[in-house]
Amino acid sequence: MDVVELQVLSEKQITNQIIRAIRSSLDLETIFNIAVNEVGKFLQVDHVKISEFISEEKGWLTVAEYLSHPGLAKSIGTYIPDKGNEGTAKLKRLEIFRIDDTNNCDSEVTRQIAQTFPGAWLILPLHVNSVVWGSLCLLVDGRPRYWQPEEVELITIIADQLAIAIQQSKLFQQTLSQAQQIQQLAEQEVCKALQRERELSEAKSNFIATTSHEIRTPLATIQSSLDLLQYYNDKLADEKKKSHFRKIETAVQRIKQIVQDTLLLSESEAGTLQFELKRIDAVKLCKEIIEVFIDRHRIEFSTNGDITPVKLDSKLVSYILNNLLENALKYSSPNTTVKFNLNFTPEAVIFMIQDQGIGIPKEDLSNIFDSFYRADNVGLSSGTGLGLAIVKQCVDLHRGKITVHSVINQGTTFSVTIFQTN
Ligand code: ATP
Ligand code: MG
Repeated sequence: MDVVELQVLSEKQITNQIIRAIRSSLDLETIFNIAVNEVGKFLQVDHVKISEFISEEKGWLTVAEYLSHPGLAKSIGTYIPDKGNEGTAKLKRLEIFRIDDTNNCDSEVTRQIAQTFPGAWLILPLHVNSVVWGSLCLLVDGRPRYWQPEEVELITIIADQLAIAIQQSKLFQQTLSQAQQIQQLAEQEVCKALQRERELSEAKSNFIATTSHEIRTPLATIQSSLDLLQYYNDKLADEKKKSHFRKIETAVQRIKQIVQDTLLLSESEAGTLQFELKRIDAVKLCKEIIEVFIDRHRIEFSTNGDITPVKLDSKLVSYILNNLLENALKYSSPNTTVKFNLNFTPEAVIFMIQDQGIGIPKEDLSNIFDSFYRADNVGLSSGTGLGLAIVKQCVDLHRGKITVHSVINQGTTFSVTIFQTN
C-alpha cells in the first residue's frame, strides 16, 4: 500500500466517523453542530456553515457555524441574499458552487459577499427529495484554495448524509408531533369519557331516587288498602271492598308502568333497544292503542291523506302514542276532548295529538324531553317525567321529528313526523 492509498483510507475512516456522528442524533441542532465542527477540523478550513433556504425574498439563513479562530466574521442568524445571486441559483439547481479565489469572481452579489468573506469558497446544496433545503458552505479566510477533486468528493458524501439526517429528523419531528397530537386527543377522550361516566352515575342516582320515591306512593296505597281489607273484612261494605281492590289494581298498574319505563330508557341508553321497520296499517295501530285507555271516549280520532301502509316500528310507535295520549288526557280536564289526527303525506306519516289542557310554561318547553323533568304547573298529577324522554328516544331511532306547541291554560299540541323513504 503506498502513501496515497493510506491517506485515502484514513480520509474514508474520518468520513465514516463524521457520518456516524451525524447519524447519532435526531435533533437538528446537534446534527448541525457536529457536522460543522467535524468538517472544519477535518478539512482544515476556517469557516464552515450550514444555511437554510427560507424564501426568495428572505434568502439563506445561517443556522450553524464553525470558526477556526475568534477573529473571523460571524454569520449565525444572518441572511445571505438570494435575488440576483449566481451562487445560490446554482445551489437551487442542485449544483456545487465553488470559488477558489474570491479576487477572481465577476458577479456583483458574490463580490459584495466576498468583502466580508474573502478567500476561497466551496458551497454544496443540501437537498431533500431533490428539493433544495439549504447549503453546506466551507470557507478559507483571506487566501485562495484550489479545492481538490478528492476533497470535493468527500464533502459531497458528507453533504448527502447531512441531507438524509435532515430528512430523518424532520420525519421524526413530524411523527413526534403527530404522536403528541394523538396523545392529546386520547387524553381529551379519556376526560370526556370520565365526565360522561360521572354524569351517567349522577343520572343513575337521580334515577334510582326518583323511581323509588314514585314507587313508594302506590306501594303505600296497596299497603293501606290491604290492611283495611285484612282487619275490617267483615265490617266493610261490598262497595267499599271493591273500591279498595280497584285502588290496589291502579297502584299495581302504576308500579308496572314505572318499571317498564325505567327498563325501556336504560335499554335505549345502552343502545340495545330493538328497532325494526315494517310496513304496517297505522290506522289499525292507532285504534288499538286508543281502545286501551279507560277514558277513550274523550279521544277524537281522524285521518288525512291517502291511507297506505307505512314503514315504522310498531312497538316503538306504540310507546310514543301511549305516552302522548296519556299526557294529553292527564293534563287536561275530564270534560274536554283530545284530538288525535293521523296524516299521510307522500314523504311522511304525521301523528298529531292536541289537548285543551293546562299547557306547558314557555321556560319549561326546552326541558320536557329530559328524564325526570316535570313542569311546575302539574299540581298533584302523578308522574316520573320519563314518558317524553322515552318518546324522544323512539322518535330519534326512527330519525323522525317531534314538535310541541303549547299555550298555558289553552292546550298543547304534539306532532310526530316519521319520514317514509323508499
Ligand atoms: P310519566 O313519566 O309518568 O309520563 P310525566 O307525564 O310527568 O310522567 P312526561 O310525560 O315525560 O312526564 O312529561 C314531562 C312533563 O311535560 C310533564 O311533567 C308536564 O310538565 C309536561 N307535559 C307533557 N305533556 C303535557 C301536556 N299534554 N300538557 C301539559 N303538560 C305536559
Ligand atoms: Mg307522561
